[in-house]
Amino acid sequence: PPDVEQLGNATWTFLHSTAAYYPNRPTPNHRANMLLLIRAIPTLYPCSHCADDFGQDVKVNPPDVSSRAGLSKWLCERHNEVNLKLGKKPFDCTLEKLDERWKNGPRD
Ligand code: FAD
Repeated sequence: PPDVEQLGNATWTFLHSTAAYYPNRPTPNHRANMLLLIRAIPTLYPCSHCADDFGQDVKVNPPDVSSRAGLSKWLCERHNEVNLKLGKKPFDCTLEKLDERWKNGPRD
């Protein structure tokens, strides 16, 4: 079975990076595809208890695919739910901190 830690780290890297480069003003096509990507996870993610819990969370907290800022914050909050469950520290979900980590790198 997949290494749940490595799989998770790689998946969050993909998802946060994709959110960081999502358009400020997404087309209907962008929105539809991002919704499909997010909604596929509960069915396809190869850690079944992770997938189930994520599916429950997404049901309660519907994805915000309306903008880069909205999507980045929504995803950060979902990741923080998992962090909380695992006893990891929460991440600061301001766009500044998210961009520093996933888009621009730290300012010098
Ligand atoms: P990760 O949590 O993988 O984070 C990677 C990097 O992202 C961090 O180093 C940090 O720089 C940054 N980061 C941290 N928090 C945030 C945030 N909120 N927003 C933006 N960036 C952030 N593991 C389980 O054991 N049980 C589960 O039920 C479970 N469910 C998961 C569900 C999903 C959908 C995913 C993608 C992963 C899940 N995982 C689960 C894996 C878990 O979240 C971690 O990926 C794994 O424990 C490895 O942790 P890590 O310390 O490498 O950091």
